[in-house]
Amino acid sequence: MIDAIGFDCDDTLWHSEAAFHLTQERVRELLAAHTDAETLDRRLLEVERANLALYGYGAKAFTLSLIETAAELAGDRLTAADVQSLLDAGKEILAHPVDLLPGARAALQHAVDTGLPVLLVTKGDLFHQEAKVARSGLGELVSAVEVIHEKDESTYARVLRRNGIDPARFLMVGNSMRSDVAPVLSLGGWAAHVPHDLLWELERLDDESHLRASPRFRAMSSLAELAPWIAELRTAP
Ligand SMILES: [Mg+2]
Repeated sequence: MIDAIGFDCDDTLWHSEAAFHLTQERVRELLAAHTDAETLDRRLLEVERANLALYGYGAKAFTLSLIETAAELAGDRLTAADVQSLLDAGKEILAHPVDLLPGARAALQHAVDTGLPVLLVTKGDLFHQEAKVARSGLGELVSAVEVIHEKDESTYARVLRRNGIDPARFLMVGNSMRSDVAPVLSLGGWAAHVPHDLLWELERLDDESHLRASPRFRAMSSLAELAPWIAELRTAP
């Protein structure tokens, strides 16, 4: 039933959101003189949402949105030192070491051992994502690394076409129902959802019941459940 397997990276194979959370906590303290935490969080999310089409995803986009939000909330009281602190906070996310999630390497290795092509499919800043793939040491295991600007139906379709994969015979594994499950199921493929404790607000879907009801969907509590499902799909008539 499947000819290829795709893995999301951020918060599927390695921690990502945690670094953003930590930074945002620090920024709340940095800007405490200018704004309360609740206002900062709410406004930052709105600014990030508005900037998505301009900046895309990732730490650099986050940093620019942080500065924009701080400038808006603090006005002329925002100092050059404040801006420097925000830039430093953003750089820390970019320099953050890659911390693999439990079972990530084993799950990926198992998928590779099936002999099927395995792809890493990750969205965000090209430079940062490539650096993380390199630091993870997982890039050399897989057939292809696809860094894309958005995880929607048309982008997945393009990636699969480029790799000669029939969407109906593609299995995607990831932590986001919106980015890793919905578009792949729409294309007729298969999807496994392995949630992470932290989910970015803009990854949230209002209603995922139709996705969860699909016979091509499997909810998993950890990556350890992936190998048995791959075996099932490979032996199915
Ligand atoms: Mg992810």
